[in-house]
Amino acid sequence: MINIPKGTKDVLPADSYKWQYIEDTARGVARAFNISEIRTPTFEYTELFSRGVGETTDVVNKEMYTFEDKGGRSITLKPEGTAGAARMFIENGLASSPMPLKAFYITPAFRYERPQAGRLREFHQFGIEVFGSESYHTDAEVIFAASTFLNKLGVKTRLEINSIGCKSCRAEYNKALKEYFKPRLAEMCETCNSRFEKNPLRILDCKEEGCKKFTADAPKITDYLCPDCKAHFDGVKNLLSDLGIYYTVNPRIVRGLDYYSRTVFEFVSDEIGAQGTVCGGGRYDGLIEELGGKPLPAIGFAAGIERLMLLMENTGAAFPERQKPRIYIAGMDEKTRAAAFKIAAELRLKGINAECDLMNRSVKAQFKYADKLGAEYVAVIGETELLNGEVTLKNMKDGTQSAVKTTQIYTYLQ
Ligand code: ATP
Ligand code: MG
Repeated sequence: MINIPKGTKDVLPADSYKWQYIEDTARGVARAFNISEIRTPTFEYTELFSRGVGETTDVVNKEMYTFEDKGGRSITLKPEGTAGAARMFIENGLASSPMPLKAFYITPAFRYERPQAGRLREFHQFGIEVFGSESYHTDAEVIFAASTFLNKLGVKTRLEINSIGCKSCRAEYNKALKEYFKPRLAEMCETCNSRFEKNPLRILDCKEEGCKKFTADAPKITDYLCPDCKAHFDGVKNLLSDLGIYYTVNPRIVRGLDYYSRTVFEFVSDEIGAQGTVCGGGRYDGLIEELGGKPLPAIGFAAGIERLMLLMENTGAAFPERQKPRIYIAGMDEKTRAAAFKIAAELRLKGINAECDLMNRSVKAQFKYADKLGAEYVAVIGETELLNGEVTLKNMKDGTQSAVKTTQIYTYLQ
């Protein structure tokens, strides 16, 4: 037998309604915020991610699914959704459309990581990107959209926000960080040692216990923000407070990806173990230019659907009911089966979830099967019913039975 690849998961027929529920909720929230869906390829040229996600990130350094195609091009399965969205934006000249441009996606993403609870090699993200607005209102709107999505799903998380400033405040801050970490480097991991040279800010994102104990007392970026960045951050915080969105400022949030600036945020849960971040995002004002477009501010987030699913299952969040037939139509011989088949066909054309026998079961076995499916009604057609153009309709909840004209079944179900 051939097994499923490590770090991937099947969605079984009995579980897909949960996925659909999360996706439908995402689409509903996007609609309320007037955000249109985009779809970008599952694979892109590797360079898009090495430039767009950043050479100093774990994603690019260790986690990408990269291969050479038969034409000798270096191809990578998308590890996240933002770089592809930005490429689409630039390539299609969307900068000349009215701003801001608001887009969302639901996409698989691929990262070669050590699989564990909430960490897979193929996972799925719901993400929103807003291009073209520098205003702190946009930061608050995007955070509010994420918070609305999580609330609608009934999951409890805490919102942590931070500002990592712009190039100018970060230069000052990086100096302070280097001064602080320099005497501690010998005790820190190899990756942090290379981060120290290339991008010291990234050290704050290290997940090694040995490094984490030092990051707790490191200088805080919020003490180094320039006046513009500080005003922007205050604007975001005030709007969030106005909306009644509770947050804490966590100066150690820097996010895993290189392209962020100013506002960064995470929605975190303590109910799903070490991989607690269900949604992360921030502003990436430098990305579009980095990818060859005219400089343009942007902000977005991505929520991990598997982590959300885990959180919802662990905390007993309410899912809607899985789909069930409204009616099962049972025949007993060739003629009545043909009639049942036709009635089911007509109801299906009208959009009613109707079932009938495909297994040549006895009427008794059909009842049993219909009950297993959770059918609301079972209609039985015997000799007499066929002659009278009716069915005997049994309500499976209360057991009551009535004769209903075949032509009236649809109306009866309404
Ligand atoms: P982490 O710190 O957990 O590795 P990250 O910073 O790499 O997360 P992002 O790139 O911001 O994560 O992705 C956004 C969201 O996608 C995460 O908050 C998480 O919910 C989800 N996610 C990221 N990597 C994985 C993975 N390997 N398996 C499942 N979900 C993931
Ligand atoms: Mg990661």
